Amino acid sequence: MKSKKLLIFIILSWLLLVTASFLWNYASARNEQKNIAFQTARSFFELIQMTRIWNARHGGVYAPITKETPPNPYLDIPMRDIKVNDNLTLTKINPAYMTRQISEIAKEYRGVQFHITSLKPIRPQNKPSAREKEFLKKFEEGVKEKGVFIQKGGKTYYFYMAPLITKKSCLRCHAKQGYKEGDIRGGISVAVPFTMKIPFLPLLVGHIIIAFIGMLGIIIAGKKLTRAYKVIQRRALIDPLTRIPNRRCFMETLLKEFKRSRRSKEPLSVIMCDIDNFKMYNDTYGHIKGDKCLQKVAQAINTSLKRPTDFCARYGGEEFVVILPDTPLDGAIHVAERIRSNVEKMNIIHKHSLPAGVVTLSLGVASTEGLTPFTPETLIKNADTALYKAKEQGKNQVQFFKEIT
Ligand code: GH3
Ligand code: MG
Ligand code: MG
Repeated sequence: MKSKKLLIFIILSWLLLVTASFLWNYASARNEQKNIAFQTARSFFELIQMTRIWNARHGGVYAPITKETPPNPYLDIPMRDIKVNDNLTLTKINPAYMTRQISEIAKEYRGVQFHITSLKPIRPQNKPSAREKEFLKKFEEGVKEKGVFIQKGGKTYYFYMAPLITKKSCLRCHAKQGYKEGDIRGGISVAVPFTMKIPFLPLLVGHIIIAFIGMLGIIIAGKKLTRAYKVIQRRALIDPLTRIPNRRCFMETLLKEFKRSRRSKEPLSVIMCDIDNFKMYNDTYGHIKGDKCLQKVAQAINTSLKRPTDFCARYGGEEFVVILPDTPLDGAIHVAERIRSNVEKMNIIHKHSLPAGVVTLSLGVASTEGLTPFTPETLIKNADTALYKAKEQGKNQVQFFKEIT
């Protein structure tokens, strides 16, 4: 349950991380888009600025009067028109007029819209729109340039605007309006059609795939780790030589069974088993044979237990311990005798363990039956006392603990 909660926590953290990555990528893409739009619009503006300066430096340039290029009625200067001959009359194109004409070409050619405007326009068509007015006021407060995405006729445009700063070359015509060099005379707005789209769907699908693969990886790794953890946990409770539970597992089981027995008021019995003269067995037949003997004895004890709740463990060295839940003392003595007899019947030759001549066990039985008050430790101690008695009285036998009253 704990590991399940941890797995859910890791998965949620992973999903949060992927969501954060998606939002960050989306915000970056939007920012990038804005930057591209801004740079594009600014380039258009700068190009117009350069052509205007070129024009102003020449004090305006002359072009033939045509239907498309009539004389500029707002240009109040001497020599605005020059008649060359009957077929050719030239008219002066000042920067404002030129901007207007370029703007018409740009609109036809690229859909880009320029608008030269001022808070004090000479030409009524140069009156600022509400947005241009707002931006012009900002420029007077010191803002250098401004741009926003706008929707116009169902299309997205990037609207950029920068001020027109009065230069020396401008004063030839604009000095009479009261402008000085460095004054903001107005501005030029540029509306560039913007078709670049943020790849929202690929970004979303990509992140969903990453989230899914990561989640799958976490689940698989989580399952593998849980399995490995269970193996380690099991190993920590199993004796590697005899493959039956170890002392730690015995202590945990005894405590559990003890509590259960106290609740159910059913007796709990313990058998302590110790191989007789085992040191001698090792000395005579060697440690490898000694280990094999321990394995056989462990198996014999294990197979002597019939109830599923009966439990045996290696207590240490050549000592084993058995827990018999819901078993009174006489029942436990009966089981102990069965274990003793089964071990003897294996006929493992031990020529120095006399008089049997085979490997035998001494067993001490203790029960909670009739004992008050008691603890798990007293139960072990009592079984040990009984085992000592069995050793004392000649080994290869069962003895039990009885409270001296
Ligand atoms: P008693 O009949 O009084 O129990 O005598 P004993 O020789 O069995 O008892 P003692 O405690 O003197 O010796 C226990 C021996 O068990 C000591 C050691 O040689 C042997 N032993 C303990 N653990 C292992 C083990 O893991 N493998 C092997 N081969 N022998 C072990
Ligand atoms: Mg011993
Ligand atoms: Mg022994």
